[in-house]
Amino acid sequence: MTFDHDIKATVRTIPDYPKKGILFRDITTLLADARAFRRAVDELVHPWAGAKVDKVAGIEARGFILGGAVAHQLSAGFVPIRKKGKLPHTTVRIAYSLEYGIDEMEMHADAVQPGERVILVDDLIATGGTAEGAVKLLRQIGANVVAACFIIDLPDLGGAAKLRAMEVPVRTLMTFE
Ligand code: IMP
Repeated sequence: MTFDHDIKATVRTIPDYPKKGILFRDITTLLADARAFRRAVDELVHPWAGAKVDKVAGIEARGFILGGAVAHQLSAGFVPIRKKGKLPHTTVRIAYSLEYGIDEMEMHADAVQPGERVILVDDLIATGGTAEGAVKLLRQIGANVVAACFIIDLPDLGGAAKLRAMEVPVRTLMTFE
């Protein structure tokens, strides 16, 4: 697929980061390439052009960069989902599983109104633990999560399938086995 090849080549792979045996997919090189960044955002929003989307929720930190651009393109509001302790107003919080252990994420309790249509955005989905936590948090405050978008899917780790089992449509632009 030309499109896949085109922007996939701008993702940098770093072996043994953050620890030995991990192949880290680095999207900073995609973001720094004007054509690739534009194209990735255009492709992420494509199915929702002209549709009603109230908010885009981005997961800290790379989901902020992409989510801001996606929200702008869809004329939607932007909502940050952050690591605990970073947001100044009343929050809702959820524990989520990481590869080793658990962490907690938060969002402002009033960031989304009940029934609002929300798209979740992050750079990459692996096991899906992070995105699953974010979907649960959004649903806890009444959001209608209409989709989740990621530039990269690592399908062997099952995250996209996990989200689809929660009835969240998933859009990804490329896979790495
Ligand atoms: P998951 O919770 O296992 O799906 O991991 C996804 C989260 O970890 C996302 O917030 C990603 O930004 C981050 N992540 C995991 N692996 C990578 C990688 O290879 N490159 C960039 N981010 C990664």
